[in-house]
Amino acid sequence: MKVFIHIKEESERLPNKNFLQLGGVELYKRTLLKLKDFDVYVDTDSEDIYQACKADQNLSHITCFRRKSKYITWEQENKEEGPTPFMIRDFLDEHVIDENEPLILLHVTSPFLKIGTLKDAVSMMNEKHDSVCSVSEVKTFSLVRKNNEYSPINFDSTKLQKTQTLDSVFHINSAFFIFTKKSYIENNNSRLGKNPYYYTIAFPEDIDIDYSSDFCVAQHIIENDHSNEFCTTHRNLVSREYKKEDSVFNIGPTALGGSNKVIIAGPCAVESLDQMLRIADDVTRSGANMLRGGAYKPRTSPYSFQGLEEEGLEILAKAKELTNLPVVTEVIDEKSASLAIQYVDMLQVGTRNMQNFSLLKFLGKLNYPVLLKRGMCATLEEFLMSAEYLLANGCEQVVLCERGIRTFVRHSRNTLDVGAIPALKRQTHLPIIIDPSHSSGENYSVIPHALAGLAAGSHGIIVDVHDKPAEALCDGPQALSPNQFRKLTYLAQDAIELSNRMDEELFEELL
Ligand code: PEP
Ligand code: MN
Repeated sequence: MKVFIHIKEESERLPNKNFLQLGGVELYKRTLLKLKDFDVYVDTDSEDIYQACKADQNLSHITCFRRKSKYITWEQENKEEGPTPFMIRDFLDEHVIDENEPLILLHVTSPFLKIGTLKDAVSMMNEKHDSVCSVSEVKTFSLVRKNNEYSPINFDSTKLQKTQTLDSVFHINSAFFIFTKKSYIENNNSRLGKNPYYYTIAFPEDIDIDYSSDFCVAQHIIENDHSNEFCTTHRNLVSREYKKEDSVFNIGPTALGGSNKVIIAGPCAVESLDQMLRIADDVTRSGANMLRGGAYKPRTSPYSFQGLEEEGLEILAKAKELTNLPVVTEVIDEKSASLAIQYVDMLQVGTRNMQNFSLLKFLGKLNYPVLLKRGMCATLEEFLMSAEYLLANGCEQVVLCERGIRTFVRHSRNTLDVGAIPALKRQTHLPIIIDPSHSSGENYSVIPHALAGLAAGSHGIIVDVHDKPAEALCDGPQALSPNQFRKLTYLAQDAIELSNRMDEELFEELL
């Protein structure tokens, strides 16, 4: 596979365009630098580019030719047809032996084109398709002029049509053409073979810089590209770069983070004083070192039990009094948070509120311990950025909680992302616990999820326990019975032991 690129010194529409700095690199160089894995040939009339290809160590994968003078003259003469087809033909005659080798003709001014896209596009060449060409989709209406009137080509005003149902209009954007020597010659020096595959590329990959407005858009994208923000900026307060050692802190008598393992247990929802005290007493005897119970339940359906609210908080305070254990409870807004801090020791942000940034800012300013659950569809970067909101606003004691993410599987309520534990531990100093109840959704798999999480190195678990699951007002099917919870606490010791040994054996590799 060879890549062939034509680069012109000058551009009428955007003077000096190849040398404009995009994200600190000249436009032409940005594209060339990306092509390290390819066999690249550049044909240019620019002496500067020719010399740069010769001198720059980072461009040593490029074979650069000076443009033939006959083609330079041809371009200066401004004929209707440019010399490109003949320049390609010369290249094929002089440098390509295998007539079936895929050749990529690449536009140097498409700065966002990804290498993966190019490789994928090459794989579309087969018996059916002798060439590939990039197209982009026009999402707005395209107008055609008929008898001095404009009408949309993909819209029928006599029918009720929604924009989603309209046919897309595609146009060849020339970001790349892929063909072979054979197809090019057989089709009369045409980049499009007999059966081209039209490969759709989407914004921003389809940007071709022709005008200064294109360049402005490209600059804007580069300046506002936050997709890599977490990896590229090391000033994030949650990051290991900011703080190397694990964060360790106490909530009442319970230590969190570092080598401490927390076991938080209790009902999903606080239903009554009697129910909460019974369960609290039981889990404490089994070895829980913190209690849970929801007084505000952000339920998927508005008709489901929404929690006892402040009455629930009062009950939680009694459970704390009875057991001497700290309590965590979910808050859903500023009002519930302001009330909850009068009764409990730690505030939980649920999966549905992970990106409720105004709530996060408010909680951050309260500087009260927070258990932040991962959004069910959140990436780790998004998860950490939500934690960053808390830290950036003043909260120092934040625990992350992986509680399962939404995937295509149906055998569990969510999919416990065990892999998130080592990945998060590498990126952040904050403690990470897992919620095996909300990941599994069903009683029988809660303990396996819990043990997997602990063995993988989590700093603890938060588990739903109910002594009458059939009567539970919320999430009964995933509750462990008090007896099962007791079994979990002693099995957990082995899982913790395993994770401690893993830390010892793999100290270097893990961080
Ligand atoms: C909960 O812990 O009670 C809860 C609702 O969890 P999540 O936000 O993870 O669904
Ligand atoms: Mn629940």
